[in-house]
Amino acid sequence: MTTRQALRVNPAKTCQPIGAMYAALGINRCLPHSHGSQGCCSYHRSHLTRHYKEPVMASTSSFTEGASVFGGSPNLRQSLKTIFQVYDPDVVAVHTTCLSETIGDDIPTIVKKAADDGIVPEGKWVIHASTPSYVGSHVTGFSNMVKGMASYFTRESSVKHKDQVNILPGYVEPSDMREIKGMVSEMGLKPLVFPDTSDVLDTPKTGEYHMYPRGGITVPDLMKTGSSLHTMALGQFSSLDAASYMDHKANVPFTLVDIPIGVKATDRFLQGIMDATGAEPTGSMLDDRGRLVDMMTDYQHYLYGKKVALWGDPDQVISLAEFLVSMGMKPVYLVTGTPGKVFEKRLTSITSDGNFEPVIAQNQDLFYLHQLIKNEPVDLLMGNTYGKYIARAEDIPFVRYGFPILDRAGHSYFPSVGYRGGMHLLSTIVNTILDRMDRDAPEERFELVL
Ligand code: SF4
Repeated sequence: MTTRQALRVNPAKTCQPIGAMYAALGINRCLPHSHGSQGCCSYHRSHLTRHYKEPVMASTSSFTEGASVFGGSPNLRQSLKTIFQVYDPDVVAVHTTCLSETIGDDIPTIVKKAADDGIVPEGKWVIHASTPSYVGSHVTGFSNMVKGMASYFTRESSVKHKDQVNILPGYVEPSDMREIKGMVSEMGLKPLVFPDTSDVLDTPKTGEYHMYPRGGITVPDLMKTGSSLHTMALGQFSSLDAASYMDHKANVPFTLVDIPIGVKATDRFLQGIMDATGAEPTGSMLDDRGRLVDMMTDYQHYLYGKKVALWGDPDQVISLAEFLVSMGMKPVYLVTGTPGKVFEKRLTSITSDGNFEPVIAQNQDLFYLHQLIKNEPVDLLMGNTYGKYIARAEDIPFVRYGFPILDRAGHSYFPSVGYRGGMHLLSTIVNTILDRMDRDAPEERFELVL
């Protein structure tokens, strides 16, 4: 295979503002604002809407040729005026696009001037994150916006509440955020989860429209994050920056763990909380753990030795690979479009116990993955929707996982984190393999009981 340096074909990532927009939706009564042209905002909103199957609200500075030449300051000022007059959010979370970054618009200065001129009403907030899309990925954009939340809202506090912990859940589904919040609450703690897109992008149908759904962390809670005893940062790529910022600014120490997918990563997540706070998991959580281990044992013979190709967001691929290895599977190809050498380092360590040599690649694309598979096929594909072309071309069973999933349902409603999420994820994997066994079975081997 020839190595390409300067071309991406079917990228395993999307652009920074999508992640920033998703993170901003995790603040209660927040309107994400895209500082750039309408096309960017429209693409980001529609991509999120197609994944979450929920309407995603966001405003845009609506650049035209004039703004491109003279700068976007007048557009942002006019936008903020209209937004606060018409849509009345508590927070406007501004992220930049390629164009506004290239022009060099200085968002904090523009916003400060707008606030001084009375455009930002008293008690309202305009926060921002710099999200140039020619570097990083949607995961970088998510991380930048989460750090933006910490930098605008976290306050120093000499009082630390023993039962209050900050949770940075990482780039996961609304259902995952709900599950993580539930586990921490079950341990008798008050979790300040941010962002928290549960009850924002998975709202129940009530027959009424609410521009700002009830979910998301509130501004008063964000302001309390400096008085938490500890921060649990889930996922190096999506949560480390905000956690270290809070440690530095407000003296809240943090533990960095992987996104809790599978038994080992969930154990480490809970152990981190136990070490920091002294809280213990409940009996029902231990029962869930036991059930997941039981399932892993029961289905082991379907999974052992199966070769898997994994791609997607680095924090998710790292945790998922560990879960698969713990079940005797072989994640032989591990690809992310997000740059960062720590991806290769972590996965080398995770796969070192397995009896296989994986190909681990950061900042790579699905065309590269397809070439690997053509040279040596796998038994299962796991990743976002964009892998369906490989699945069809090579006729390989496919479990959709990660972001975005545009052609299946349920991903944002059923968690894959924690012990309960692990059970759901494991059943999906096993059932996909069993479906394939049925499909491929010759008449004489087609069995009722597998
Ligand atoms: S890559 Fe840049 S120009 Fe393209 S949609 Fe994303 S922000 Fe807009």
